[in-house]
Amino acid sequence: MTSNAPSSQISQAHLLPVFARADVAFERGEGSWLISTTGERYLDFTSGVAVNSLGHAHPHMVQALQEQATKLWHMSNLFKSPDGERLAARLCENSFADFVFFANSGAEAMECALKVTRHYHFSKGNPERTRIITFEGAFHGRTLGTLAATGAAKYLEGYGKPLDGFDQVPLGDLDAVKAAIGPETAGIVIEPLQGEGGVRAASNAFFKALRELCDKHGILLIFDEVQTGMGRTGTLFAYERLGVTPDVMSLAKALGGGFPIGACLVTAAAAEGMAPGSHGSTFGGNPLAVAAANSVLDVMLKPGFFDQVNKMTLLLKQKLAGVVDRYPTVLQEVRGEGMLIGLKAVVPAPDLVGALRDAKLLTVGAGDNVVRFLPPLIVTESDIDEAVQRLEQACTVFSKGAA
Ligand SMILES: *Cc1c(COP(=O)(O)O)cnc(C)c1O
Repeated sequence: MTSNAPSSQISQAHLLPVFARADVAFERGEGSWLISTTGERYLDFTSGVAVNSLGHAHPHMVQALQEQATKLWHMSNLFKSPDGERLAARLCENSFADFVFFANSGAEAMECALKVTRHYHFSKGNPERTRIITFEGAFHGRTLGTLAATGAAKYLEGYGKPLDGFDQVPLGDLDAVKAAIGPETAGIVIEPLQGEGGVRAASNAFFKALRELCDKHGILLIFDEVQTGMGRTGTLFAYERLGVTPDVMSLAKALGGGFPIGACLVTAAAAEGMAPGSHGSTFGGNPLAVAAANSVLDVMLKPGFFDQVNKMTLLLKQKLAGVVDRYPTVLQEVRGEGMLIGLKAVVPAPDLVGALRDAKLLTVGAGDNVVRFLPPLIVTESDIDEAVQRLEQACTVFSKGAA
């Protein structure tokens, strides 16, 4: 690449071309807003795909990270980590779990969940129990293990025979789950609400039935809350709404509010047999990541935080439903929980994402022709009004095209 090439070409020349990137770059953010390198303001309803849940440049998080940056950037897991222990304790106090393993991403948190599940049965004298039941439309990550769990042909193609040990069944099909359980089954992995799959959920009754099946067969229930966890669906964890408690749960995306950190939460019973050497990570529980995650919890655990989130959610959903009613040739329905919102489109979802970007509202596509609205949880009423106005603007473009 020559030095006088346009900057847009230079920036893409050496990145492995695995992403279809939109032709816009951002320089900084403020709350729900992003400012592009050309100085234009965009309303950010991607939140970095459910990551920046407290918005951009949240003062409390900025301060926490700045303070940590002057003290210690990295410390290996050869030594004690008081701040990591504090983060783990807070996650356990606010969930079903007794133990936490820190990783650096969602896929790694899920890898830990899968390994814990196999190891649980190994330590009980059933090493043959290694198979895990998963659901169609799932997304669990891109490592070879989590990709096999995801099971989607479009992601698996080109990477050889998928890792063995996963049995995928249709979402919500209890008979299929029962039929899939055999002497080698170790657990069931499910997202409380599928994100990438198109903001799709099974019924609460289905989740209750899964819990009962797991108890009956002595297998583990694993919730992938990488996307739903840390407040995205209106409670700290999505399982709280289901009235069903898992044995193992993965977290990542919003846990560090934008700093990479993942976590695998486990009950004492499920963690039986995990001992020094059973699993590990160089960066897992890194002091910067732990400081970021503790600062996220400081904000989310403040009394009243979720009251405000739920108030804004209701407002946003009502207004979105109004737009769906007014533009039936463009939009079909609003779905989702909390601020994991899906707009099922009539027009091709990628076209709608593009039109919204033209209107300077950033959203994320998903499966099932859905556009995801993932505002930061600190979104304000005026941000919501602005977003709805921009959505109407984009819908007008399509309904004119259809006329
Ligand atoms: C994003 C996501 C993952 C993978 O997380 P990465 O950090 O990209 O590895 C796993 N599970 C779910 C439900 C996700 O949404």
